[in-house]
Amino acid sequence: MATATMKMDYYEVLQVERTASDGELKVAYRKLAMQFHPDRNPNNPEAEERFKQCSEAYQVLSDADKRAAYDRYGHAGVSGAGPGGFNGGNPFQGQGDLGDIFGDLFGEMFNMGGNRRASRAQRGRDLKFDMRLEFEEAVFGVEREISIRRAEVCEDCSGTGSEGSKQPETCQQCGGRGQVRSQQGFFSVARTCPVCSGTGSVVRNPCKTCRGDARIQREHKILVKVPAGVEQDTRIRYSGEGDAGRFGGPGGDLYVVLEVKAHKFFERDGDDLHCVIPVSFPQASLGTELEIATLEGKETLKVPEGTQSGKEFKLKGKGVPHLNSHGKGDLIVEVRVQTPNKLNKQQKELLKQLAETMTVENIPSSRGIFGKVKNIFS
Ligand code: ZN
Ligand code: ZN
Repeated sequence: MATATMKMDYYEVLQVERTASDGELKVAYRKLAMQFHPDRNPNNPEAEERFKQCSEAYQVLSDADKRAAYDRYGHAGVSGAGPGGFNGGNPFQGQGDLGDIFGDLFGEMFNMGGNRRASRAQRGRDLKFDMRLEFEEAVFGVEREISIRRAEVCEDCSGTGSEGSKQPETCQQCGGRGQVRSQQGFFSVARTCPVCSGTGSVVRNPCKTCRGDARIQREHKILVKVPAGVEQDTRIRYSGEGDAGRFGGPGGDLYVVLEVKAHKFFERDGDDLHCVIPVSFPQASLGTELEIATLEGKETLKVPEGTQSGKEFKLKGKGVPHLNSHGKGDLIVEVRVQTPNKLNKQQKELLKQLAETMTVENIPSSRGIFGKVKNIFS
């Protein structure tokens, strides 16, 4: 029963602060115990493990002495309190609170249907389809037909799973409940009946087409309509388009998960687009007009005289349409001044002449620095 796994911190297990009051512990424990109780999570070993961890953590932290020992020495201080510790003696002894809680809890659990007859109906599984889009397709939207493999109701047995569409017989093992109960320490744990897999009934002569599953795998085509403005990881849900349910259960859902390819020029930030435009040093100094490619054609951008590298210009409404609403984001153009290189002799000569005429007054960002330096020494 006790496996050699790393023990989690009891406070983390119960998702409370180390300073949590007894009342807070109780509330936290009750919530988690309800969430992970094996009756609510059949065939889910992970939930069962969490359930045990929570019970163990609460058993220690709800006891003032044990909590003090745990706070001081960690798990070593309360090593006798593991799940194995429940097995000897009366588990509720000295655990008044725990008894109360489980009284409520099991009351609710049994009402939830420990003894009622299992329904054969099962919901179909949800399916996921990854769809890769071009950058522009995400911006403007696109329609694309996809083909998915999914379970559909078997027509040969009308979805009964039984040859000749006969109604199935009640499972002898579980008496039709679909669950068998076993005692684990002081927890009564319900497990899915291994004979009927939880359906409560057994098919004597399974349908040959679906081998008793009541469904068969088929390719199915769906037209996916991607609206304008979607982004990476946007999910589109198609209700009931996943695997068909069994024995009258509802179908699962289909989730189309979008992956958007990067653009070589634009970068997306929400519904805004960013791009970087290189300009020459004379262009930036004298001012210029640039032709900018947007997603919907060309635009002219006026770069004023004396523009610094890194300056951003906003083209309003030239970004991505807002998903499911009106309006669009903006296009942000960042101008980067390129330092000229590979200059010929004549160009170098001209630059030198320019340099000789330049003063600190021509370089805006150094005006302040020069002033500060002067102030330090004066
Ligand atoms: Zn059964
Ligand atoms: Zn069939």
